[in-house]
Amino acid sequence: MKKSIITLLAFCGLLGASSCDKNNNLLLFGIEQDKQLGQQVSNEINNDPSYNILSESQNREAYAYLEGMRDEILNSGAVEYKDDFAWELKIIDDQNVLNAFATPGGYIYVYTGLIKYLEDPDDLAGVMGHEIAHADLRHTSRNLQNNYGIQILLSIISGQADSELSQIALGLATNGALMQFSQKFEKESDLKSVEYLAGTKYRCDGAATFFQKLEEENPANEDIFSQINAFFSTHPQPADRADYIPEEAEKVGCSTKPSGESSQQAYDLFKSNLGLLL
Ligand SMILES: [Zn+2]
Repeated sequence: MKKSIITLLAFCGLLGASSCDKNNNLLLFGIEQDKQLGQQVSNEINNDPSYNILSESQNREAYAYLEGMRDEILNSGAVEYKDDFAWELKIIDDQNVLNAFATPGGYIYVYTGLIKYLEDPDDLAGVMGHEIAHADLRHTSRNLQNNYGIQILLSIISGQADSELSQIALGLATNGALMQFSQKFEKESDLKSVEYLAGTKYRCDGAATFFQKLEEENPANEDIFSQINAFFSTHPQPADRADYIPEEAEKVGCSTKPSGESSQQAYDLFKSNLGLLL
């Protein structure tokens, strides 16, 4: 075990910084390739009408609100690839889906079903922090490299593997089996979201509130419950996360106070603009 770690460290050193992350985990994909692949995947999603992307020109205020939330997280000082990745946001109009996802290179997608479900801006900021972390920690690239192999990913980038590209887009959007993150990656993103949010106006344990809310959901609410079951089947141990996220917040010493009345009003207006307030 020790020997293989030493070999890998040496290998990472030889390959140069772009091939390995801060923890010296080997990733053959470079930052440029993350960006190129992310752009291909996002083009695929954005140009396919079946994904129902909400038009930015017709929903300017809603996008401006979400971009403001994103920018606050990006400016927290904790996002490693803040100036490298695209950090482009899209809202997918499907009120039956409680999900958000990120491609490599920072293209973030949020479903209206998730926005409708989350009552507080801090909860949404928590989920957004979590998704930004998946891209920033390059989890999606690692998963894709493991599942598809570097050659197929390079073919996708050069436009020579269209069926794999649409497979990847669909897998990301529907939380398909090949796109599911390991428990380790989920925990890393959860903890990173605390670090990001510590530098914002939002409560830094917002990601935990989402999991608590899912946990406490009434099974009699069948519509929501079937979505939650689908969510839980692809996300590990929500109860644990509702515990370790606040623990991390305590360790970091960041604020767990809600972001306040004016923040709540802005969030309610955002939901109302999207027609999501009950
Ligand atoms: Zn995740």
